Amino acid sequence: MKAIQLIILSVFTLSTLTMCAQKNNNNIIQITPKEYMTMGYNELTPEEQRVILDKGTELPGTGELLENTEKGTYVCKQCDKPLYRSESKFDAECGWPSFDDEIEGAVTRLKDADGRRTEIVCSNCGGHLGHVFLNEGFTAKQTRHCVNSISMKFVADKEKELQKAYFASGCFWGTEYFFMKAKGVKQTNVGFMGGNVDNPTYEQVCQQNTGHLELTEVIYDPTVATYEDMVKLFFETHNFTQTNGQGPDIGPQYLSCIFYSNDKEKDIATKYIRILNDKGYKVATMLKPKSTFWKAENYHQQYYEGKGMSPYCHKYTAIF
Ligand SMILES: [Zn+2]
Repeated sequence: MKAIQLIILSVFTLSTLTMCAQKNNNNIIQITPKEYMTMGYNELTPEEQRVILDKGTELPGTGELLENTEKGTYVCKQCDKPLYRSESKFDAECGWPSFDDEIEGAVTRLKDADGRRTEIVCSNCGGHLGHVFLNEGFTAKQTRHCVNSISMKFVADKEKELQKAYFASGCFWGTEYFFMKAKGVKQTNVGFMGGNVDNPTYEQVCQQNTGHLELTEVIYDPTVATYEDMVKLFFETHNFTQTNGQGPDIGPQYLSCIFYSNDKEKDIATKYIRILNDKGYKVATMLKPKSTFWKAENYHQQYYEGKGMSPYCHKYTAIF
């Protein structure tokens, strides 16, 4: 069944290409079969093309990833598919990055055109990677994927881990309004923290007896923005000296508070409170350890963005 589907697909693909070629007479862009095969892939430099498409070899000892020992994933330069994990990398002193195992299914072995060696290619796009050698005694797996550095990109683990930070500064609509626009912020959610009722509703919190504060969960990319950036923005977008709420919103759920996730965040928050006190502000902001974040009802999320309005209770004032 699959073979038949493949044949039908091939016939369809070929006829589509032919149709495109014919339509070219009517000023429709023509694509070659090679271009069709690489549609959606990353553009390659001439040197990358020489290795990845024309099965060339980079000069030994020249690859950027040769000495890399960081934790992360090596992905295909052409299609971004993960190929190898850093745990499989070892130093074979051969001048090319070496791995004793691939990510399952990521690499295909082919008989090399020279009839001797075994070529390895990306299973997803067919891009040339290098060659694989067996039983050389380097590691227990007795396998050496000898890969051109130029055929791969490296994505460090730490680059992929987004961080979460929690800030309460009065009405969460206004807090979120500024954080969702900040550099490096990938996502924001508004909700409640610090109380003694599980999964509270907005109505419950408004009764002011659950102990919760309205706050914003800020999910940011630590390679683009830092926790310090977030803390500065927090102080610059509300009145942190107000002791009974925020602006016209009076009540315990509107108090100013940083919920820290670890000692490092606590130290940074403490540092900025000290800086502000030194500047003469009487800082009312509380510091509390993070507890369960209870997301608020959907109609509160990205409230001002959804309504196309600006906050009445928060404004930006440059301090730092
Ligand atoms: Zn690929």
